[in-house]
Amino acid sequence: MDPIVLFDGYSKIENGNYYANCSCVLIKGPPNVIVDTMTAWDGDKLVKALNKESFAPDDINYVVCTHGHSDHIGCNYLFQKAIHIVGHSISYKNKYEIDHDFKSSYEYIINDRIKVSPTPGHTLQDVSVIVNSSRGVTAITGDLFEKFEDLTDDNIWKEAGSDSEELQRINRQKILILSDFIIPGHGPMFKVPQRFKNPG
Ligand SMILES: [Zn+2]
Repeated sequence: MDPIVLFDGYSKIENGNYYANCSCVLIKGPPNVIVDTMTAWDGDKLVKALNKESFAPDDINYVVCTHGHSDHIGCNYLFQKAIHIVGHSISYKNKYEIDHDFKSSYEYIINDRIKVSPTPGHTLQDVSVIVNSSRGVTAITGDLFEKFEDLTDDNIWKEAGSDSEELQRINRQKILILSDFIIPGHGPMFKVPQRFKNPG
């Protein structure tokens, strides 16, 4: 099953104020996975969007947050029956899985078509969810990619905040090469243009 974008992320400046919310994605399984849960004020609309897909929060088996910023983790509390992966942290209730070493580049395998891959840069604990589906490989990257436009304008992802521009550049290239589609942190899903698949 292809990942379903429940909400397109965005970021914008209006009247001198900065507004942002993340892309929120459902991967139907089993196991059922939700990636990035928006702000803490989005609970009602997130439940409604799940209901439209004939899902309830308790049907979700994994919550994956691409990193720990407030617009990506806000509604994690809805998912009481799920394993929560927030950046490098993996937990269920108060029990933490401390053996998985994202830091040494190990991927966390959810099943044979869904894996969580460390892609540091925006924060040093950023992860991306890589999904093999009928339309090809879809990478749900959080803010490794801010939006499609940042493929041609590095300032967009740099100004969104980068804890390591060097690592972010390397991981962006890695994801561009392996993906057919990218769901970025703050813009609609896009197909990766062939010209971005050549390194350098
Ligand atoms: Zn973000």
